[in-house]
Amino acid sequence: MTVGVDAKTLTPIVIPRAEHNVTRKEISDNALKVLYRLNGAGYQAYLVGGCVRDIMMGQHPKDFDVATNATPEQIKQQFKNCRLIGRRFRLAHIVFGREVIEVATFRGHHNSAKQNTQDPLGNQTDEGQLTRDNVFGTIDEDAQRRDFTFNAMYYSVADFSVTDFANGRSAIKNRIVELIGDPATRYREDPVRMLRAVRFAAKLDMHISERTGSPIFNLAGLLSNIPAARLFEEYLKLFLSGKALKTFELMDHYDLFTPLFPQLGQVLQNHEDREYQFIRQVLINTDNRINNQQRVTPAFLLAVFLWYPLEEQFQKLLNESGLQPHDAFNIAMSEVLSQQIQRIMIPKRFSTAMREIWQLQQRLPKRFGRRAQQLINHPRFRAAYDFLLLRGEIEGGDALEIAQWWTEYQDASPEVRKKMANSSRHSNNRRRAPRRKRKPSTPDA
Ligand code: ATP
Ligand code: MG
Repeated sequence: MTVGVDAKTLTPIVIPRAEHNVTRKEISDNALKVLYRLNGAGYQAYLVGGCVRDIMMGQHPKDFDVATNATPEQIKQQFKNCRLIGRRFRLAHIVFGREVIEVATFRGHHNSAKQNTQDPLGNQTDEGQLTRDNVFGTIDEDAQRRDFTFNAMYYSVADFSVTDFANGRSAIKNRIVELIGDPATRYREDPVRMLRAVRFAAKLDMHISERTGSPIFNLAGLLSNIPAARLFEEYLKLFLSGKALKTFELMDHYDLFTPLFPQLGQVLQNHEDREYQFIRQVLINTDNRINNQQRVTPAFLLAVFLWYPLEEQFQKLLNESGLQPHDAFNIAMSEVLSQQIQRIMIPKRFSTAMREIWQLQQRLPKRFGRRAQQLINHPRFRAAYDFLLLRGEIEGGDALEIAQWWTEYQDASPEVRKKMANSSRHSNNRRRAPRRKRKPSTPDA
């Protein structure tokens, strides 16, 4: 059953237009323009990868990738709107307003004699990871270097055929995620392929073949060699594509989650634990929002993932250092974040949002007097309230009671709001009067 996966003996099957469903209607005009222009200049050019796969599966691709035998410089000569980018993988971006068509020169083999890379340095680490991939080659070599069998199909506008190098069409039919070549070698070359395997299984509703899945258990740790910035991109695709729960469960199954979130190692041990349930629930909610075209922020999800590690660190600091709660909490946030960004780079705007969501968890219980109205006007109130609701659902107790209070407060008329805020029954043992002398350094910012 492993036809088409021996990289050395890939036999391309040409599927004529009459026998496949890849139609120009599903392809962006700009991508078509690029294909025609390159063909017109005498180069080979194909649509390849996810876009061909998705159209074949009846889905609508969002981005279009082109592969060609033109070099990056030759591509640049054909398009005014072309930018050359990338070090690890040099390619051309043809920019049409907001749409970018990615054009890559066929990739070849690294050990072949005709190394025409400009990079005289090594291309591979001791662990077999490819650090550069700028050796150009033929379309056959290019197909061998692609990851999964369903990702090595090439569509041409010269005759509208699809050339299927690794029997991708039958993988689609049988719903199998299958790597091209020897899986362990391919994962060592690029450990991100392990994440891609589970991502595609979830996205395309497929299962990972035994030979493609089993090496992952041993090799998952190699993900720690991947630059944190690349893993942030991958994190977005894994969790913000509408299949986060399925993806997470597969990651958990293959031990791929902990390498990305080492602080959650303990948390995933027991599926009954509230920590595990908390993550599961946020993923369910995220998928629902995305599938209903609602906005989600990457910060919210990260804030949830790291909430219990943060609480634990906070408690530890409180118990061991004698710090004031406010300071202990700030230090705990910084520690948890700085550990996380060693694996997944979190852009500043998102880590700021995470801190605000977390800080508001400390403030939402203190909701009496004028505070409630101030809090509700906080730009991050909505996210922090959603976060608290989720905690309430999982933890019950105080979190649930406070979340319910806020639900009621938001729906209440101004008079009722006033009453609720003045309810001395809940006044947190604090007097309301001497508010004026409040220091500006309280965690409002
Ligand atoms: P999606 O767009 O849904 O993420 P995709 O398959 O288009 O899926 P891209 O990251 O856009 O994924 O990559 C386009 C194509 O480039 C892939 O289909 C595959 O052929 C090739 N490719 C991408 N990443 C790798 C990789 N790490 N190793 C080998 N080939 C890859
Ligand atoms: Mg793509």
